[in-house]
Amino acid sequence: MAIATVNPATGQTLRTFEPYSPAAVEQRLARAVQTFEQYRLTDFGRRTQLMHRAAELLDADQETIAKLMTTEMGKPITAARAEAAKCAKAMRWYADRAPALLADEHPSPEDVTDAGAARALVRYRPMGPVLAVMPWNFPLWQVVRFAAPALMAGNVGLLKHASNVPQTALYLEDLFRGAGFPDGCFQTLLIDSRAVADVLRDPRVVAATLTGSEGAGRSVAAVAGDEVKKTVLELGGSDPFVVLPSADVAAAARTAVTARVQNNGQSCIAAKRFIVHGAVYEEFRAAFVAGMRALRVGDPMREDTQVGPLATAQGREELGELVADALALGAAVECEVEVPQSAGEGWYYPPTVLSGITDRMRIHHEEAFGPVATLYRAEDLDHAVELANDTPFGLSSNVWTTDDAEQERFVRDIQAGGVFFNGMTASHPALPFGGVRRSGYGRELSGHGIREFCNITTVWIA
Ligand code: NAP
Repeated sequence: MAIATVNPATGQTLRTFEPYSPAAVEQRLARAVQTFEQYRLTDFGRRTQLMHRAAELLDADQETIAKLMTTEMGKPITAARAEAAKCAKAMRWYADRAPALLADEHPSPEDVTDAGAARALVRYRPMGPVLAVMPWNFPLWQVVRFAAPALMAGNVGLLKHASNVPQTALYLEDLFRGAGFPDGCFQTLLIDSRAVADVLRDPRVVAATLTGSEGAGRSVAAVAGDEVKKTVLELGGSDPFVVLPSADVAAAARTAVTARVQNNGQSCIAAKRFIVHGAVYEEFRAAFVAGMRALRVGDPMREDTQVGPLATAQGREELGELVADALALGAAVECEVEVPQSAGEGWYYPPTVLSGITDRMRIHHEEAFGPVATLYRAEDLDHAVELANDTPFGLSSNVWTTDDAEQERFVRDIQAGGVFFNGMTASHPALPFGGVRRSGYGRELSGHGIREFCNITTVWIA
C-alpha cells in the first residue's frame, strides 16, 4: 500500500509520501539508541512533567488532529474528538501513576531471609527502543496507549504506522518532541510493511508491539521469535454480545447498535456476534434492527453522522465478500440500511444485520470489519456460552444478565481477555486490555501494560 492520505469519504488522494530510505531509517535507529542511553537516566519527576505537557498540547490541538484523523480514515468527527480527549486522559493517567506502578517491590522479610539474602528487591527498568507497528482504526489511541506507558517507563519508541495515516503518524512525533521529550524518544518511520522485518532484526531494537490483523501479527512475531525479542500482539476480534432473559432488552438493543457500529464498525472490540436467548430473541431482534435502521450514515465531517465510510476500498471489498459468502450459504438479511445519495462516492457500507448463520459461513469464523452484525438464537445458557466461544478469537465479550450465577458462569468459562456485563467493551487506562487465542497475547494499559516492556530486575544482596 502506498504511504498516502486518501480521503475515504471521497476516494481522493490528498498527499503521498516517499518511504524513508535505508539511510534515513538508520539515522533514526542510531538516534533512538543514543537518546535511550540518556533518557533512561531521567527521573519520574521529569517524565511526568513532559507527559503532562504532551497532554496539554494534544488538548490544544484537538480540533486539528480530529479533522486530520477523519480525513485520513473516515471516523465520524465527534468520535475523532473523543479519541483525542481519551489519549490526553491516558497520558495524564500514566504521567501520574507510573511512579507507583513501577516502584521497587520488596518481598517480605521472611522471604528475603529464606532466599538467603540480607536484602532483596525487584526493580522495573526500561528495555530500550521498542518498535510499535500500529493500525489506522484508532490512529491516535492505538499509538498513545503504547507510547504513554513506554515513555514513562524510560523506553523510547519507533512507530511504523499504517500506510493510510501518515500525517497522523508524523503529528505524533511532533507532539512528543513539542512537549520537550528529547529528539529520538519517539520517532515515526514512514516505511512499507515489508521493511518492518529489517528494523525488528536490528540489534538496537529490543522488542515490538503490534496492533493489527492476525497475518501482520504472525509475521512480526515470527521475526521477533527468531531474534528472541519480546512481543505484545493485539490482533483481531469477533466479540460476542450475549443477551439473556433477565436483561433490560431495550437497553441491550440500544447499546448493541453502538457496540457494533462504533468507528464505522471497524473496531477490534466492536461486538460482532449477537447471541440472544430464545425467550427474548424476537424482542431484541426487533429493537436492534430498528436501531440499526435509524442510524445516520454519511459524510464523517458532519456533526450528526453516526456511521461514515470504511477506511479503504479493500476493506469494503473484503466485507462485501464475507456477506456474499453468508448469503450464498443461506443467511437471511434482517436489514440493510441504505446509504443516502448525499454521502457521495466514498467507501460506504450499509449497516447490515444477518441471521441464520451457520458454521459453514466464513463470517462465523472471520472478523467482519465494518457495520455488519450477525444474529444467533441461543436455546439456553449452555448454548449461549458455547456459541460465544465458537470463534478462533478471544479479545473481549459483552453479556447482558442481572443473574449473579450467570455472570459467574461467563467469568469462569468465556475464552476472552475481558467480559463486560450490561454494557459494552471499552478500554480505560486503569483496566488491562488484550486477548487470548487468535486475538493475541500480552496486555496494554494499567500496570500490566506498562510492565510489558520492562526488564524486571531481581536485586539480591548477601
Ligand atoms: P493490518 O493490515 O494488519 O495493519 C496493521 C499494521 O501492520 C500496519 O501498520 C501495517 O502496515 C502493518 N503490517 C501489515 N502487514 C504486515 C507484515 N506482514 N509485517 C509487518 N507489518 C505489517 O491491520 P489493519 O487493517 O490496519 O487493522 C485492522 C485489524 O487490526 C483488525 O483485525 C482489527 O481487529 C485489528 N485491531 C486490533 C486491536 C486490538 O487491540 N486487539 C485494535 C485495533 C485493531 P501497512 O499499513 O503499511 O500495511
